[in-house]
Amino acid sequence: MSISFAELDPVSGVINGRSAHSTSIRPQYQWAWDKYLQGCANHWMPQEISMAADIALWQDPQGLTEDERQIIKRNLGFFATADSLAANNIVLGTYRHITSPECRRYLLRQGFEEALHTHAYQYIVESLGLDEGEIFNMYHEVPSIHDKAAFLLPFIKTLTDSEFHTGTPECDQRLLRSLIAFACIMEGLFFYVGFVQVLAFGRRNKMVGAAEQYQYILRDESMHLNFGVDLINQIKLENPQLWTAAFREDIHALMRQAVELEYRYAVDTMPRGVLGLNAGMFAEYLRYIANRRCVQIGLAPLYPGAGNPFPWMSELIDLKKEKNFFESRVTEYQTGGVLSWE
Ligand code: FE
Repeated sequence: MSISFAELDPVSGVINGRSAHSTSIRPQYQWAWDKYLQGCANHWMPQEISMAADIALWQDPQGLTEDERQIIKRNLGFFATADSLAANNIVLGTYRHITSPECRRYLLRQGFEEALHTHAYQYIVESLGLDEGEIFNMYHEVPSIHDKAAFLLPFIKTLTDSEFHTGTPECDQRLLRSLIAFACIMEGLFFYVGFVQVLAFGRRNKMVGAAEQYQYILRDESMHLNFGVDLINQIKLENPQLWTAAFREDIHALMRQAVELEYRYAVDTMPRGVLGLNAGMFAEYLRYIANRRCVQIGLAPLYPGAGNPFPWMSELIDLKKEKNFFESRVTEYQTGGVLSWE
């Protein structure tokens, strides 16, 4: 597995004869280098976004219904746990196994973005004056949040286990399976009920600061997903022997289980219809998303014919169409890196 297996000289940091920090040679994996640059161009900080309107709405007893407040709180509870897991997974796991310099550079950027995301949840929790203990313990108390994390843990364990090494077909498949679980299921499916819910507030002009934070997070996450998909497809290309019929069936089964878990999360966070959304719409949406993830890594769609009840989400996810939404924000990051020396 040349993308994950590398001859690393621990003293010089030279991998496969190339410096891990070289920029002078053409990247072997251009897709990884492009995503690193794109990730940096998308830089943002949570505290740039005003939470004033959200605070006023949250403090107004008539501002939001109890169901709406519950969605916000459970959402923050799930995402705070999930993005901490994601950060550990990258820094303590994936980074050890994927040693291509340009892939590692992207992974470092991704790890930093996960820190920005947990920063954003913390900032929302503090702005609204929520009980941190209640929010950050939700992982223990809401069964569907716990179940999603429990589903992911074996895969994260594989990646972060210092005793785990690739090099046999079984272990290489274990790595590939974990990368798929992380990118296509965790970042590519388990985040989507939450994204739709919070962005649905914003569309109704409620919790607009939180919704804007989540839109930046969605933009980052769709890049994480796309990097993961490219990485998985590159490993497949270089190691076609791993992609057996049994392996493909295994991934389909995981995907099916994940759709069930995410649907239960939708019901748990939204027992009644709210904001024009109901759990039934999510049953359809999750099948649609699962089909997309399958197709992206070269698997047959699991739920043929599933439609998208939230076409507006596709527009938000498509980075090119996001221009208008983000027009109002500062853009100095893209040019501010130029230093002048007297
Ligand atoms: Fe992520």
